[in-house]
Amino acid sequence: MTDDRHPFADLGLDEALVAAVERAGYREPTEIQREAIPAALTGRDVLGMAQTGTGKTAAFTLPMVQRLTQTTQSKSPRGLVVTPTRELAQQIGSAVLTYGSASSVESVVIHGGTPLGPEREELAFGCDVLVATPGRLLDHLKRGNADLSNVEVLILDEADRMLDMGFIDDVKEIVASTPSSRQTLLFSATMPNGVRWLAHELMTDPAEVQIGFETAAEGIRQVLHPVDWSRKHELLYHLLGEWAEGQVLVFTRTRDTATYLADFLRGRDVSVAGLHGGKHQEQRDKALRRFREGAVRVLVATNVAARGLDIRGIRHVVNFDIPEDPRDYVHRVGRTARGDDTGDAVTLMASSDWVEIRAIERLLGGSIERRVVPGFEPDVDPPPPEEETGEVRPASALRRGIRRRG
Ligand code: AMP
Repeated sequence: MTDDRHPFADLGLDEALVAAVERAGYREPTEIQREAIPAALTGRDVLGMAQTGTGKTAAFTLPMVQRLTQTTQSKSPRGLVVTPTRELAQQIGSAVLTYGSASSVESVVIHGGTPLGPEREELAFGCDVLVATPGRLLDHLKRGNADLSNVEVLILDEADRMLDMGFIDDVKEIVASTPSSRQTLLFSATMPNGVRWLAHELMTDPAEVQIGFETAAEGIRQVLHPVDWSRKHELLYHLLGEWAEGQVLVFTRTRDTATYLADFLRGRDVSVAGLHGGKHQEQRDKALRRFREGAVRVLVATNVAARGLDIRGIRHVVNFDIPEDPRDYVHRVGRTARGDDTGDAVTLMASSDWVEIRAIERLLGGSIERRVVPGFEPDVDPPPPEEETGEVRPASALRRGIRRRG
């Protein structure tokens, strides 16, 4: 049973929602939840700077659900969450289900890559919360399938990513279809000028909440393995054998590498699935489902496909290729050590990656430990780290990295 002294009740959440977070097994709110929930419950706009892995989904979903239980129902959505990728949309949909079911808050999730017809029917049936990717939502809006005139709470999730992916005009058009009296919550991992500008355009005197990686980063051990480029796939296979157990998420830069690597590992009897934007939605869902269920041990994915994935139990994240944007390093390693778990983030470093590794280390504010795996010594020794400060303390480094970019 809950009482007023429950930490989530202290944030102003009502009994049904406190019970829902208890059922989810959360004992304490995360930093972003402590800051964002009370602010959002007052009805204020909120500008939240937080990564996936910090508990941000609950930070915006819980106050939205609470508000919707207090206002009059309508057929068209009163809560709208816009998020860049299909996978994130599905995850947020599950969160609304978890937190909203006790309060009878119904949601619909729409995203590209699936037929329009069933979504149109769901929209026609009505819902309290609509979770959508921008392109697909705009499509339904233009066809007259969606009505946003009753939106009371608008949430823009991963705003920086939506800008990066070229969704800015879509987002603006969507927002213009919602009432100006709405409450707006905007979350972004980083605050480039484009996001600041968007926030300024769309929000009124927002409460600003800035959080770094927090719990997600605490248990992450990071290491770089220098290796010749041509032997990276063999090294990965070797490491999979060393690790013996636990699920592994491997990032590649391109779809071709993801396909090649998955084929290579499969050929060596590794249980593996691939996830990238070139695959059909059905194949992507299946790969993800099998990985979530533990039916496959290794998921080889490109950046875009895997961004924001929330999968419990990932022991190792491997950067088979260095991410193009140093900020993506932080996103990727955040896929392990979720909640209270610990995990390893392993980066395979070829000589062509040295410059990019330095950019990542500069962002982190320190150097990552280098460790050559016996039998995989590179032909050319990598240069020593720029700052001989010893191993980076992951959590503080990530937090500093995030803050610096503000
Ligand atoms: P998110 O940043 O929203 O992707 O959440 C990351 C993970 O943290 C999800 O698996 C959530 O279920 C979990 N989570 C969210 N809030 C809490 C909390 N207060 N305590 C423990 N885990 C949490």
